[in-house]
Amino acid sequence: MPATIGVLGAGTMGAGIAQLAALAGARTLVHDPDPGALDRGLAAARARLERKGEGEAAARLAAAPALAELAGCGLVIEAAPERLELKRELFGRLAEIVAPGCVLATNTSSVPVTAIASAATRPERVVGMHFFNPAPVMRLLEVVAGEDSGEQALTLARTVGRAMGKEVIDAADGPGFLVNRCNRPFGLEAQRLVTERIATVAEVDRICRLGGGFRMGPFELSDLVGVDTGLAVAESFAALSFGEPRWRPTPLHARLVAAGRHGRKTGRGWYAYPEDGSAHRPEDPDPAAPGGGEGRLLLVTDGPPVAAELLARAAAAGWDARPAAEAEGTVPHLILDCAGGEDAGGEALQGGPQAILCAAGSLATLDPGGGAAGFHLLPPLGEAGGLAELTRGPDSHPAALARTEELFTSLGFHTAWVGDAPGLVLGRILAQVVNECAFALGEGVGEAEAIDLGMRLGLNYPRGPLHWADAIGLDHVLAILDGLWEEYREERFRPAPELRRRVLSGRLGAAVGEGFHLHA
Ligand code: NAD
Repeated sequence: MPATIGVLGAGTMGAGIAQLAALAGARTLVHDPDPGALDRGLAAARARLERKGEGEAAARLAAAPALAELAGCGLVIEAAPERLELKRELFGRLAEIVAPGCVLATNTSSVPVTAIASAATRPERVVGMHFFNPAPVMRLLEVVAGEDSGEQALTLARTVGRAMGKEVIDAADGPGFLVNRCNRPFGLEAQRLVTERIATVAEVDRICRLGGGFRMGPFELSDLVGVDTGLAVAESFAALSFGEPRWRPTPLHARLVAAGRHGRKTGRGWYAYPEDGSAHRPEDPDPAAPGGGEGRLLLVTDGPPVAAELLARAAAAGWDARPAAEAEGTVPHLILDCAGGEDAGGEALQGGPQAILCAAGSLATLDPGGGAAGFHLLPPLGEAGGLAELTRGPDSHPAALARTEELFTSLGFHTAWVGDAPGLVLGRILAQVVNECAFALGEGVGEAEAIDLGMRLGLNYPRGPLHWADAIGLDHVLAILDGLWEEYREERFRPAPELRRRVLSGRLGAAVGEGFHLHA
């Protein structure tokens, strides 16, 4: 732990990082070429510390009006504006000022660490220390290794991060490093779903909140961050990857920015924000209490883990819920086909309204010309709450539609009727998130534990996507991706080799003891 830490830039991030450095026990020197910004940033950091009774830490903060005053630092963390040329110029000058052993860190979120490091003499001492906003509150620090970052510099960055009270994860340099990269599909796939009119903006967000347990849907989040900021990030991913199809920005996004709808800060983005400060959407109501099965026969075909979870929840809600294999020739009230149409031809499945799990394909593909309804939802389902997505085809039988909705409501789920597509809304978004995580894992950008920790602590995911995939079943996730690929023939839906290989080797998730993680 260095005795003196320098912070460059006293803006939103710099002031927060300076506060953390002082709290960790270092004399902290803050430099900003704008004297007003320097005063404001220092005052904000001191006030937050004093409010927490950390007067001693506040006293360790000092202004460094000239860059040269950072000469004695053991670590300098840069949080200047997000412009490559500015950062390169700064690191070039800094490298001349500080001692050879001083570690230089950048808090950039989208400029390659390697491109900044090469402007400094001895680039092995340059690393990324990617904090999340607000830095004093968010518990994650991503330590990013550039092409030439040395182990000593990385170790120091981790040590300081832990002294600041952060959970530290390692990431390799590349577009968005680990966490922001793995989260790319959350917004991008949501925009595609709206473009294709599979669901509206408000419906996608509601499904992510109620069905996925996210605090905010992708569009609410985009309005908070800034729709224009989000487009700039999307464009940077596309440029840095030379046009990777998974990361291609959408025309829908560009249109919103062109219209000046930049989110909360302009009063309008994906949503309109009333001037009187009232909410942009209604509160989510509680789901109905489970119950009302009244002993009616429900058959559930074998399938991924969601099938067993549905059986359990139906039994608890008073249904005579049985695996389809135990049908005994009676006509059921409804058949839930969780095998996605594959085994639907059996004797047991004749003679009752059906709903098909739309994972391996859209309802149109899985039940061509048939009368079934479609549904999709992701485990873990828990005992109450959640949301089931439902869909219909042109020939869906009215009884199948009505009974499917009635069933899920009786199980205590919210429901949402959406357009037809493999995985419907949440299944498709999450399958793409898991796929991105699997690409990152396969490319060595980060470890599975780091991905899950990073997504929970850095982006408030309700659970790590790879742990989530283990609960869903990796074969279920892969089925959605293969289904999307089959129907769209777009490269953006190609499954990551890391995911397919795990499925091929039988590592299907928690149910078999191993997926992306080992399970006891
Ligand atoms: P900001 O605009 O709030 O602050 C930037 C500060 O840098 C300003 O006070 C400015 O006066 C100062 N500055 C300008 N030129 C400088 C120079 N040559 N040397 C030192 N300081 C200079 O920006 P921010 O949101 O704090 O972002 C800073 C960095 O942190 C960016 O690289 C950004 O990508 C990254 N980051 C931001 C967030 C976020 O959510 N805001 C999250 C993670 C990382």
